[in-house]
Amino acid sequence: MSENPTEQFQSLGNRPPEEATFFWGGGPIEVAPRTFFQCAFSSCTGFETDDGLVLVDTGLARLAPNLAARLRKRTQAPVHTAIYTHGHVDHAYGLDAFVLPGQAAPRVIAHRAVPDRFARYVQTAGHNAAVNARQFGGTVNLANSAAYESFRVAPTPPTQLYDDRLELEVGGVRFELFHARGETDDHTWVWCPERGVLCTGDLFIWVMPNAGNPQKAQRYPWDWARALRAMAALGATSLCPGHGGPVVGDPEKIRQMLLSSAEFLDALVARTLAVLEDGSPPHVDVVRRVEIPPHDAAWLRPLYDEAEFIIRNVIRYYGGWWSGRPSELKPSPRQAVAREFAAIAGGARALAERAERIAAAGELRTACHLADSALEADPHDAGVREIVAALYEQRAAGESSLMARNLFRAAAAYAREGRPFA
Ligand SMILES: [Zn+2]
Repeated sequence: MSENPTEQFQSLGNRPPEEATFFWGGGPIEVAPRTFFQCAFSSCTGFETDDGLVLVDTGLARLAPNLAARLRKRTQAPVHTAIYTHGHVDHAYGLDAFVLPGQAAPRVIAHRAVPDRFARYVQTAGHNAAVNARQFGGTVNLANSAAYESFRVAPTPPTQLYDDRLELEVGGVRFELFHARGETDDHTWVWCPERGVLCTGDLFIWVMPNAGNPQKAQRYPWDWARALRAMAALGATSLCPGHGGPVVGDPEKIRQMLLSSAEFLDALVARTLAVLEDGSPPHVDVVRRVEIPPHDAAWLRPLYDEAEFIIRNVIRYYGGWWSGRPSELKPSPRQAVAREFAAIAGGARALAERAERIAAAGELRTACHLADSALEADPHDAGVREIVAALYEQRAAGESSLMARNLFRAAAAYAREGRPFA
């Protein structure tokens, strides 16, 4: 499987905007006068003014030329100001493609925490390339990893940083920037009152908020909900999301989308804290005891992230990294433990076969614990590798969220290679 998210998503794009989902790719769409939205995996909104363009987000470096070419069908204005909604590679790394030859260097605005994120990516490029490879279902080979190269080089840096709020005027058009912790600690959402356009960054992406991502840094669903409520109060007539298609001319739907997302996050956080309050049970038990709030809306489907992972993220913020299992406080190497289990079972192959039988009886979650031990006990046994890979492929097929599906697919890929997963 490709480690490249753009290849996976391109095949899912090209849907009409009324089917706007995380996977939508299209545009330019004129969401308000002189305001153009386009999306290729991630989005970019260009506000044309008499003094030049205000760009909200710039896409992935490798898809930015495609985004820019589409925007340039509608406007040839030079880039006056670029705003990064946050420092992720799919939002802040594509500016070069939009800048016209010979034009003055644009002003670049971002929240104060963005440069730290860029520095972190340079410092941990190999780690991030591996994390992304797993998130998109593959294994990583740093010698041949485009993701590794992209994390190693910081993008065009911001020329202006702000803390909580910033107002701009460009060519007579006013823009209000608001900081909110949500998917990241460096998020900005943008409101252009006279055009009625709201750019949410990844605080809205047409699927259940990406507030639990298993491999990524802390997320902040409670602040996220507050930001969604603030956005809902604006009466925006157009919403430009971080991923997926825009909503144009339907303020009531926009309000509903934002408020229902806020309600879902608030309820999930409150329910998680209520279980934690009840004697701080082990993490796994918290996850299983939290009743997941209703999330029937099209934009709350767990297609990318999912509630179980958001609960984990809340636990992490309020607690520590320890699972609560005594042996896992200062554990033995995984392989040493796995070999003991295998010895009791009569070998790694026997353990793997037991996992297969348990899975066939419908206990796939439990089967995967045994499968991990079997592979750790003897990663060189081709039979074990095959059984484990097949189990994780089966597991992946039953998952709705991209995170779960792809991490299980990655587990299968790593098993086939006889490599430790993480
Ligand atoms: Zn994004």
